[in-house]
Amino acid sequence: MAPSPAIDIKVWGARGTFPMVGADALEYGGHTSCVEVRAGSGVIILDAGSGIIPLGKALLEEGVTEIDLFFSHVHYDHIIGLPYFLPAFWNKARLRIWAGHMQDGSTPDQLVDGIFRAPYFPITKDYMRADVEYRKFSPGDVLEPSSGVRLVTGSLNHPNGAVGYRVERKGAVFCYLTDFEHDGAAGDAEIRRLAKDADLALLDATYTPEEYPRYVKFGHSTWQHCGALCAEAGVKSWGMFHHMHMRGDLDQHAIEQAAQEVFPNSFAVRQGQHFLLPAKSGRGKK
Ligand SMILES: [Zn+2]
Ligand SMILES: [Zn+2]
Repeated sequence: MAPSPAIDIKVWGARGTFPMVGADALEYGGHTSCVEVRAGSGVIILDAGSGIIPLGKALLEEGVTEIDLFFSHVHYDHIIGLPYFLPAFWNKARLRIWAGHMQDGSTPDQLVDGIFRAPYFPITKDYMRADVEYRKFSPGDVLEPSSGVRLVTGSLNHPNGAVGYRVERKGAVFCYLTDFEHDGAAGDAEIRRLAKDADLALLDATYTPEEYPRYVKFGHSTWQHCGALCAEAGVKSWGMFHHMHMRGDLDQHAIEQAAQEVFPNSFAVRQGQHFLLPAKSGRGKK
């Protein structure tokens, strides 16, 4: 039997801005940002975009009770699924909700209050039946959501702020770096720090290089810049994430091929994609 992976990653939503349905979104998927990470005990969820809705159903069917949900930030595409996340309404689940990016000092508790708020939503967050705990951190903190898992955090260049995550376990490294705009300065240095020698990194590659000039300061990057940053950071394999809203499969496929001509270690992330990162004895346990 193969040894269990050090980090197991499943993508439940890879699109940015808003969900997309229809025959044009079958290959890359239509759900917005949500990635499930299993590393040791418990389940880590990165972002609560619409992809967290089917994930919640799967977790409930499996009977998972320990869940750590980390927001990159709280723009709609990263929170829209939370009110429909079934484990939050199950009284046997323990849900820890983490956030650390808020430049105005808002706490995770206040952020979730803002999601479950009249007249935008019919119930308050008090209807959640899980044991919900709110945990605030500062970008730059190193967290340990479960034993043996090191979660490095960092601040990303994005309107209202966002947090990037680096998950380390048994020498394997996975990075989740979405909603950032390359800046040729401190923001890029932070991406390189977080992604250093990662086995797998998912990065915000919303725009093509041709589209980007129309969207400067919108807070998103291009595959060209992501590829350059990953090369500088020594990333082994990286995925284009946060696909442009309304971008159909054919166009996304053409972008993936163009990127792979320059960066053979790149790919466009598909909803449902599953990655297993093995342990590495040489790197030691960090
Ligand atoms: Zn987004
Ligand atoms: Zn955003």
